[in-house]
Amino acid sequence: MAGGRPTRAEVDLDRIAHNVTVLRRLTRPGTAFMAVVKADGYGHGAAEVAAVALEHGATWLGVAIPEEALALRAAGIGAPILVLGPILPHQAAMVVAAGARATVSGVAEARALGRAARAAGREPAVVHLKVDTGMGRIGLLPDEAGAERALQVAGQPGVSVEGIFTHFAAADEADKGYTRWQLDRFFGFLEVLARRGLKPAIRHAANSAGLLEVPESHLDLVRVGIALYGLFPSPEVRREVDLRPALRLVTAVAQVRTVPAGTRVSYGCTWQAGRDTVLAVLPAGYADGYRRALGNRAQVLVGGRRAPVVGHVCMDQTIVDVGDLSGVAPGDEAVLLGEQSGDRITADELAEHLGTINYEVVTGIGRRVPRVYLRGGRPAGPPRP
Ligand SMILES: *Cc1c(COP(=O)(O)O)cnc(C)c1O
Repeated sequence: MAGGRPTRAEVDLDRIAHNVTVLRRLTRPGTAFMAVVKADGYGHGAAEVAAVALEHGATWLGVAIPEEALALRAAGIGAPILVLGPILPHQAAMVVAAGARATVSGVAEARALGRAARAAGREPAVVHLKVDTGMGRIGLLPDEAGAERALQVAGQPGVSVEGIFTHFAAADEADKGYTRWQLDRFFGFLEVLARRGLKPAIRHAANSAGLLEVPESHLDLVRVGIALYGLFPSPEVRREVDLRPALRLVTAVAQVRTVPAGTRVSYGCTWQAGRDTVLAVLPAGYADGYRRALGNRAQVLVGGRRAPVVGHVCMDQTIVDVGDLSGVAPGDEAVLLGEQSGDRITADELAEHLGTINYEVVTGIGRRVPRVYLRGGRPAGPPRP
């Protein structure tokens, strides 16, 4: 960090380890644990999170796109990886090059995968069939035509169907009716396929919410994303497991100025000092993922106390009113997200201001923010640019 930017995302890998450990305890011994590290580990850093999760009992990794699988391989990670998102036929070669499993919902990508695997001398291409039981997104429909297509996929030369899965649309809601309906449709479809001789070895359905609240969805493998990072999938999910948020987005006060009543702040002059006060400028903005709409809504922690963000957040700077705090000086740590001296700005709190969900808050942290990894409370290595 010497000479570096004060704005950084600190990721406490011990907390990731803790979360994996407590989450694994919720499953039976026969259920495998997939750490979902798509979108650069929900903004935390895919390779670092993957390595820690694998050390603590995860045996699978989930990503969204083939490039993410390749990046994990480049980081020296050898665990099985499932590409959860859809691929077009031209992406088959990259999945094969990464030695990853593809998600398949149609014959075209299965054929392309079989061909790519043969061309690379890496047969068979291992795939997981996706079944759309109610998400309305990718997958085979669990009907007669869907079963026919599943059998066609399994019949492609050079293709091996290892798994079959579905994804929940509303497992994070208090009412689990829709989720149970999806699960029933999934089980029904599995039976239809079994009668026709197709019995993929790994059946999976649960995301974090399914893991936390729908034990009958655990099956052979659970696909855990948001909970791994210490966040709950929604406010409706019970806080019964001790999840610990792993990320803090911090910066340091760059400038402190006493200003007279009437001073206007930031683009559009949307805030005006109602009294003489003290403003602190933070060298972080929406280009770092601290969204513009947090202006005049969110608070930051300085010296363990809350200070309101005033005016619009700029691309690279944010202004806070520290008139109620005493002795704020340049260089003081300011926390945009996470804990400081016993108080905490949560991803849920920022999501609430923005009308979104905690997932979008953490995945939105900008690429130019260095990630600093902590282990045993200490930096675990040089920051990753
Ligand atoms: C992202 C994703 C997950 C993980 O979801 P969380 O709610 O973050 O646990 C699981 N399965 C699929 C198919 C996904 O795309």
